[in-house]
Amino acid sequence: MDCIFCKIANKEIPTNFVYEDEFVVAFNDISPVAPVHVLVVPKKHIANLLELTSDDGQLMLHIMATVIPKIANEQGLAENGFRLVVNTKEDGGQTVPHLHFHILGARAMAWPPG
Ligand code: 5GP
Ligand code: ZN
Repeated sequence: MDCIFCKIANKEIPTNFVYEDEFVVAFNDISPVAPVHVLVVPKKHIANLLELTSDDGQLMLHIMATVIPKIANEQGLAENGFRLVVNTKEDGGQTVPHLHFHILGARAMAWPPG
């Protein structure tokens, strides 16, 4: 499949990972919008949040309860917090059709988002 995040996850495109395990990779966004801008990407190709199934329950728990807190801590975001973004399809502004979680931090975020 011609998917850039699959290629990054399976190391066809060399990328420095800030985190990797059996299920997930995480790396700095190529075009950061905050001083910390890390993308958390499941190794399994899932097009977007709407394509998750009950089979992905353990994966999602792992990402939410283990991977994201670990990265937030390592990136120095635990004290002041951060924003987690999952852009979904056109209106959500998703440009890469492989599920990913943006961890944005080290500055105060505005609300509402654009
Ligand atoms: P989306 O717009 O789908 O929510 O987020 C996709 C993100 O992936 C964008 O913030 C974009 O800058 C980032 N991105 C796209 N291609 C690459 C790449 O080849 N390497 C890295 N590190 N980030 C990428
Ligand atoms: Zn993919």
